[in-house]
Amino acid sequence: MKEKGLLIVLSGPSGVGKGTVRKAIFSQEDTEFEYSISMTTRKPREGEVDGVDYFFKTREEFEELITQGRLLEYAEFVGNYYGTPVDYVRETLDSGKDVFLEIEVQGAQQVREKFPEGLFIFLAPPSLSELQNRLVTRGTETNDIIKGRMDTARKEIEMMNLYDFIVENDTVENACHKIKSIVQAEHCRRERVQQRYLNMLEVE
Ligand code: 5GP
Repeated sequence: MKEKGLLIVLSGPSGVGKGTVRKAIFSQEDTEFEYSISMTTRKPREGEVDGVDYFFKTREEFEELITQGRLLEYAEFVGNYYGTPVDYVRETLDSGKDVFLEIEVQGAQQVREKFPEGLFIFLAPPSLSELQNRLVTRGTETNDIIKGRMDTARKEIEMMNLYDFIVENDTVENACHKIKSIVQAEHCRRERVQQRYLNMLEVE
């Protein structure tokens, strides 16, 4: 039997740069995983192409997909639906290829419940590690601004609980490199590799 591909989920707080990192990963020729194109009800932005950037749907069409159980996960984000087509994900994984999802955090939580064996990567804003230094060294912000930043940081740190790996988005290049290295390492994990060797013995 063919070995299944790995489900890779990249998520993280809004505005952290998930889309930019995902585009950079898929612009590299040596990237071997497949991007799962999401469905959305938001209108295409300039230059976006249906079936390339997203599958653009009406709210009615999207709700029909939900009813039919055709989405692996979905979420409403800033007034629009976003979701992952389940058939594409399952078929691609079954064919032995890795699938890459770039989704917001509520969707990632649903995927974790359905695919606990997936690889969950949290893209963290560099502001988290910069925060402490800045607060100590500058001392120029008002207490309210400092408190606001601390609250945001606390929520972002709490979100990390669901994930296997945390990658700081300090530069896009570094983040891409780390994500690809994590995927490579995951393929070498004993639990994944050992079974292949055991299967080999059973053939005898
Ligand atoms: P944008 O409208 O900027 O393309 O995307 C808005 C947010 O939706 C981003 O955080 C992006 O990661 C997320 N997103 C894109 N596709 C999906 C999806 O299929 N499911 C979920 N849950 N979020 C998605």
